[in-house]
Amino acid sequence: MSTAVVHRSGLRFAAGIYRVRVFGATAGLVCTTPIMLSDRAVTFLLMTFAAALLAWPHLAYVIARRSMHPVNAERRHLFIDSMFAGVIVALLNFRLVPSTIVLLSVAMNSIAVGGMRPMLFCCIANALGVLVGIGLFGSHITNANEPYSTLVMLPLMVLYPLLIARFAHMASERLAEKTRQLKVLSELDALTGLLNRTTFIARLDRLLRACDGETTNVGVIFVDLDNFKTINDSLGHKAGDRVLTRLSGRLMQISEQGGLICRYGGDEFVAAVQVASINDLSIIAARIIRDMSRDVSIDGTRLKLGASVGISVFPEHSSDAASLISRADAAMYRAKHRGKGTTTFYDEHMEHASAIKYRIARRLRAAIQKDLKVHYQPQVDMVSGRLIGVEALARWYDTELGHVPPGLFIPIAEEMGLIGELGMAVMRIACADVARWRAIYDTSVKMSINVSVLQLRRPEFLDDVCELIAQFKIEPSQLELEVTESALLDNVGEARSTFERLAQLGVRVAVDDFGTGYSNLSYLHALRIDRIKIDQSFIRELFTTTTGQSIVSAVIAMANAMTLDIVAEGVETWAQARWLVSHGCVTGQGYRFSHPLAPEEFERWMIANPAGLSLLVTECSSHS
Ligand code: C2E
Ligand code: CA
Ligand code: CA
Repeated sequence: MSTAVVHRSGLRFAAGIYRVRVFGATAGLVCTTPIMLSDRAVTFLLMTFAAALLAWPHLAYVIARRSMHPVNAERRHLFIDSMFAGVIVALLNFRLVPSTIVLLSVAMNSIAVGGMRPMLFCCIANALGVLVGIGLFGSHITNANEPYSTLVMLPLMVLYPLLIARFAHMASERLAEKTRQLKVLSELDALTGLLNRTTFIARLDRLLRACDGETTNVGVIFVDLDNFKTINDSLGHKAGDRVLTRLSGRLMQISEQGGLICRYGGDEFVAAVQVASINDLSIIAARIIRDMSRDVSIDGTRLKLGASVGISVFPEHSSDAASLISRADAAMYRAKHRGKGTTTFYDEHMEHASAIKYRIARRLRAAIQKDLKVHYQPQVDMVSGRLIGVEALARWYDTELGHVPPGLFIPIAEEMGLIGELGMAVMRIACADVARWRAIYDTSVKMSINVSVLQLRRPEFLDDVCELIAQFKIEPSQLELEVTESALLDNVGEARSTFERLAQLGVRVAVDDFGTGYSNLSYLHALRIDRIKIDQSFIRELFTTTTGQSIVSAVIAMANAMTLDIVAEGVETWAQARWLVSHGCVTGQGYRFSHPLAPEEFERWMIANPAGLSLLVTECSSHS
């Protein structure tokens, strides 16, 4: 049942009380009218009270309707009702019959929200009202010996407990049930019916205090759905909500088995279970992943989700609920990074790493449009020394973090969804520089730009590339996109159509870090590749391992056979350069020729080497 449903039934309750109150006020008025008419001394006061008595039900009803908890509001009103009765009784100088009638008419109002405790409070309020009344009007009991008084009192004394107390009891039970429902609801997540975050933390705290940590452990299991965002984005929030409700139904069994489970926020859930051994936690986590990976069918569409799970353990990782949760969260991030659908246990290096990561991501987001720089590393013909092209490499200097290497911020940008924006920013700067060099130096520099596979997946990617080409009037074949081999291998299917469009446009594609993918090379056929870049690790090991040279010569032979261009990366010595040239790889990139250079440095480098690296040619031949 939702909060709204209980609130609505609370309002119906208030409406019922309103009717009883109106009835009570009317009855009170009818009974006191003869006194008003007969006793001039009290007429004015009684009329004032009568007006208040008439106004009060309406006022109380308005207040109750506006209140978040109408039932509670009515309980407070009950107190005022009783005060009222006390004052009126005092005003009437305790005339037995009218006094009893007034008290009873108010009691009729009260019983609707009554119960033992509220009744007790109302008696106190009654007494207070009487005292206030005596203070205002003085006290004397009149007509104490009215002959019919005992006759009236006796049946009332019998009937009251029989009839009214029974009603009061029933009403108070309903009230107690309503209050309980409201309390339960305030502890639950409105959408899924699982515990909400606040209640979960409080209960986990209680569980930890009760647990000795020796014979039993408490595992905190952080579950994050994989691919939920895609479903939410493509099918809309309503469908997303239904998916969440379905999946949380599957998580419910954790609480059925005595554990705690809450919706922590968005598509995150946290469970806490008491276990005898850590191994039990792995079993539970595996079951959760299995349950979350079962298809969900929404309006006939079968959806495939999954979950990544991180686990922290009490007392090993912390004895405090909040930090156990944040550690399980850190472990979950690691699990996601390792590959979705996996489980990872927390270890203390993670927290540090994830704190740094969030900080970097936060600052990077702000830096992309203003602080991001691009440096250029020349690729040269190692025989003639001619400049073949440059590779654009992102550079970021942050005032707080200092120089952050791309090897650190690029994976974070990929993980945090910033890579699309970052990649386009780099491409824009690089294209602008190509256009600038053409205008100033009348030279067309070939530009290689690193592209993450996540960028290729974006539907707007090709349009963005076309737009840059048009804006900066760049010859498409001047542009080369480098995609790492390992990323390509996982995405051959997806990449195919994008690569075909790029080929149609005339934009070149290179496989970066070639040789690190440990795979069959069929993708080279499947995708339209123009060039491969031999990974720098092979060049580094050229003379240090027995297999180094055979691997590189095999790669060169293969590239030649497939008429693919080839470039060697990370060339640091003349010996490496000479070996590569003599084995058929003429293009090289590496510190031997130049480090990556800031644009103005690169321009100076170009001017200083108008005919290419003449020095290089001499070096290459003199050492051979
Ligand atoms: P990468 O694409 O393999 O880039 C080559 C890296 O090797 C660069 O590191 C470069 O400075 C370094 N390097 C060049 N010559 C030598 C050498 O002779 N010896 C050694 N030891 N290293 C050499 P950097 O700039 O730190 O970039 C690291 C990686 O970050 C790049 O590897 C690339 O994967 C990624 N990256 C850089 N900029 C971007 C970008 O704009 N977009 C994307 N998606 N990735 C980028
Ligand atoms: Ca590269
Ligand atoms: Ca590389």
